[in-house]
Amino acid sequence: MKTFKLLINGQLVDGAAGTAGVVNPATEEVFAQCPIADEAQLNQAVAAAKAAFPAWSKRPIEERAKLIDRLADALMARKDEFASLLTTEQGKPLDQAGYEILASVFTLKGFVDMRLEPKVLRETPENRVIEFRAPLGVVGAITPWNFPVVLLMNKLGPALLAGNTMVSKPAPTTPLTTLLFAELANAILPPGVFNVVCDRNNLGGLMTSHPDIAKIAFTGSTATGKKVMASAAGSVKRVTLELGGNDAAIVLDDVEPVATAQKVFTGAMTNAGQICVAVKRTYVPEKMYDTFCDELARLANAAIVDDGSKQGAQIGPVQNKAQYEKLKEFLADAKANGTVIAGGAPLDRPGYFIAPTIVRDIGEDSRIVSEEQFGPVLPVMSYTNIDDVIDRVNESDYGLAGTVWGKDVNRAMDVASRIDSGTVWVNQHLAIEAGIPFRGSKQSGLGAELGEAGLHEYTQARVVNAALA
Ligand code: NAD
Repeated sequence: MKTFKLLINGQLVDGAAGTAGVVNPATEEVFAQCPIADEAQLNQAVAAAKAAFPAWSKRPIEERAKLIDRLADALMARKDEFASLLTTEQGKPLDQAGYEILASVFTLKGFVDMRLEPKVLRETPENRVIEFRAPLGVVGAITPWNFPVVLLMNKLGPALLAGNTMVSKPAPTTPLTTLLFAELANAILPPGVFNVVCDRNNLGGLMTSHPDIAKIAFTGSTATGKKVMASAAGSVKRVTLELGGNDAAIVLDDVEPVATAQKVFTGAMTNAGQICVAVKRTYVPEKMYDTFCDELARLANAAIVDDGSKQGAQIGPVQNKAQYEKLKEFLADAKANGTVIAGGAPLDRPGYFIAPTIVRDIGEDSRIVSEEQFGPVLPVMSYTNIDDVIDRVNESDYGLAGTVWGKDVNRAMDVASRIDSGTVWVNQHLAIEAGIPFRGSKQSGLGAELGEAGLHEYTQARVVNAALA
């Protein structure tokens, strides 16, 4: 197997804190070693990013955009290699891994044409007021294990375009695609502009309190996000937090239940349910509840659950042992408080496989409904009154996204607009792209990622206000 290195100041180096085995979640076997940085190497990476910042930020934005475009092309040229490594470390089926790499390419490309033009706030004979946007400095990018590549690109594209430099720290269980990207980026970017350090879950806190990091771009759980925010307060660091969710699918009474159940199933089970915006609970009109549940159960029983590298696998393992153990607790809760009509147990084979699970007749207060389960497990509730459903959905501390399914699109959009979430999709799911801001409300996040709003998060707005003679 290939040897992976950290990237610090344009050098591919070993980790001073040794190596850690990376486990393939489909086999539970260590298949590669990840270099682990110590605190001194983190400091070197931050110092390199700080030293690279003046020259990088002074380059014309068009030049930085060209280099981001080259990164996208280089990633595209090695799509299959990245996808294969992603499947091995993360677990998702190869076609989904290929899609994540493509989405990463599109994200980078999406930022290439964006610009940060000064904005004239006032222009009168007496007064000219201009707002312009300056980069912040060194950005610390901290990413989770469910989409290690695209969630890094969501940060890297806008951060570098705006003129910042970056230190990236992937999740300890999925570091390798980030390290492979570091190799690729090192052939394109000037030394120090992009650095990668890996850890045993111990460097994140040092990044969030680091005096020379100007901003933390974090994607991960709400619990860790709260720690990031508290720690960043020490230096009033900028933060964007993309956190957890408990997204609802609301099915309206004018849909065709079987076809809609198929869409909801995909929304809940893609990446074995480990998507921040996966469908995590479903509300179905009472009159079609049985048909809808039966179709979900049929799909769950028919799904091919297997090693993601195997042809035809539709649902892979969950990514790591901790998540696997947590899901077993959720399954116990589902059995105790609801009716399990498909799945309900781990598969009897090596690997962190959970049978796709559908639970019906379950109460709102059960853990599987009220918490983020982050796995291939879907609770389905019935309703008779849509206002009541909207209240139930909005009771959550989370507000990341959600879906509304309805034939009458205006009515569905009206329901969607009453959901307190950063995004609600109508008759579609996962429509995420570089041009449209993505953000969480309530405890699902702070600040935007993607879109012009996301780009602005990597800048400081400055106002120049002149009295004209
Ligand atoms: P996590 O919070 O455990 O870890 C995320 C990252 O934070 C990892 O790199 C980890 O090493 C690092 N970290 C750990 N402790 C830290 C600390 N004290 N300070 C700074 N960094 C620290 O999350 P996870 O379990 O890897 O990911 C799953 C979670 O991520 C889910 O809740 C999911 O909903 C969420 N998520 C959100 C989005 C979004 O865009 N909103 C996208 C994907 C995943």
